[in-house]
Amino acid sequence: MDDLPLPVDGPLPADGLFAEARRQLTICNACRYCEGYCAVFPALERRTVLEDPDITHLANLCHDCRACFTACMYAPPHEFAVNPPAVLSEVRRRTYDDYLPKLPRPPWTGLPWMRGRAGVAALAVVAAAGVAALALAVPGGGPAGSPYRVIAYPALLVLVALPCAWGVAVLAMAAARYWRQTAGSFRGLLNGRAWLAATRHAATLRYLRGGGADCSYPTDVPSAARRRLHGCVAYGFLACAGSTIAAAAEQDLAGVRPPYPVVSVPVLLGIAGGLGLMAGCAGLIWLRRRADPASSDPGMTSRDYGLLIALEILAVSGLLTLVLRQTPVYAGVLALHIAAVVTCFCMVPYTKFSHVVYRFLALVHDSAEAPGRQ
Ligand code: SF4
Ligand code: SF4
Repeated sequence: MDDLPLPVDGPLPADGLFAEARRQLTICNACRYCEGYCAVFPALERRTVLEDPDITHLANLCHDCRACFTACMYAPPHEFAVNPPAVLSEVRRRTYDDYLPKLPRPPWTGLPWMRGRAGVAALAVVAAAGVAALALAVPGGGPAGSPYRVIAYPALLVLVALPCAWGVAVLAMAAARYWRQTAGSFRGLLNGRAWLAATRHAATLRYLRGGGADCSYPTDVPSAARRRLHGCVAYGFLACAGSTIAAAAEQDLAGVRPPYPVVSVPVLLGIAGGLGLMAGCAGLIWLRRRADPASSDPGMTSRDYGLLIALEILAVSGLLTLVLRQTPVYAGVLALHIAAVVTCFCMVPYTKFSHVVYRFLALVHDSAEAPGRQ
C-alpha cells in the first residue's frame, strides 16, 4: 500500500470525490477486514477495477451502519484516513442529484433564491397552498367527518393524483438512468430471484445489523435502535399507503363512503402507520443529533433531517384529521394535511426519499451478482 496517495485535506472538488472514494476502497480491498459486515465489501472484492459506476453502486449498497469505521485501524488519525461511511454518503448525495432528469429551467429560477432545490420547494409549497385553497372553495357533500364535505371528491382526486404522478415519473426516470449506468442492461431487471432476495434483505433491514452485532450508531457501542426506528418509519409508511388503498377499495369496490369507523381497516392502518411514522421519525432525529458528524456528509445530514421532518409533519397532520374530524377545525386541518401531501409528492424526487429506490436497485444488482447470498 506504499504507493497509495494520501488523503486530500479540506473539502473535495466534485471531480475529486470519486478519486478519494477509489483511494479508500482500494485500501479496503487490500485489507478485507470488514468483509463480513455488509454487502459492500464482498461486492468490492468481486471488482478488480473500480470505475465511477462501480463506486456509485457500492455507495448505494452502504446502509451507513458505521461498523467498518468503528473497527477500522486505518481510520483518522491514521494517515490513510479511511472513512467509508463518510465518503460513500457523499457519493450517494452527489449521485442522487446527478440521476435526476434535467428539466428546462423556468425564467424565475434566474433569481438567486429560486435556484435548485430551494426553488422546487418554494414552488411546491405555493402550488399546494393555492390548489388547496381552490379545492376548499368547491366543497362537496356528505356526513360530518367526511373529507368530501370539505373538498369535492373529483377535486381531491386531481389534487393528489397529479403531484403523485409527477413524483413517480421523475423517480422512475432517475431510477432508469441509475440502473443503466451502474448495472447496464435492463434485462438484468427481469431476474426474479434477485428481486426476491433484495426484497427479503430490504424487509429485514439486514444491512443495518452491522454484520450481526447491530449498528455502531449513534456511538461506537452497537445498538439496534436505528434498525428498529427505521423499521417503524418504513412499515409506518407502508401502513399509511395501505390505509389509502383500503379506503379506495371500500369506496370504489364495496360502495362504502367515508367517514369510516375507528374499527375499520382504513382507520386502523392509518392510526398504526401514523404512530409508527411519528415515533420512528422522532427517534431517528434524536439519534442523528447524537451521531458523530465526522462519519457523514453534511449535505446528506441536512437531507436526513429534511425527510424526517417532512414525514413527521405528514404523520401528525394525518392523525389530527382523524382526531378532529367531528370538530369545527376539521376543514382547516384537512387542508393543511392535503397541502403537506401535495408538497411532499412534488418534492419527493429531490429529497432523501429517493434512497428507497436507489438502495433497492443496488440490492437487486448485488443479489444478481451474488446469487448464493442468503
Ligand atoms: S474499513 Fe478499514 S478495517 Fe475495514 S476493510 Fe476498510 S481498511 Fe480494512
Ligand atoms: S458503514 Fe456499514 S454498510 Fe456502509 S460500508 Fe461500512 S459496514 Fe458497510
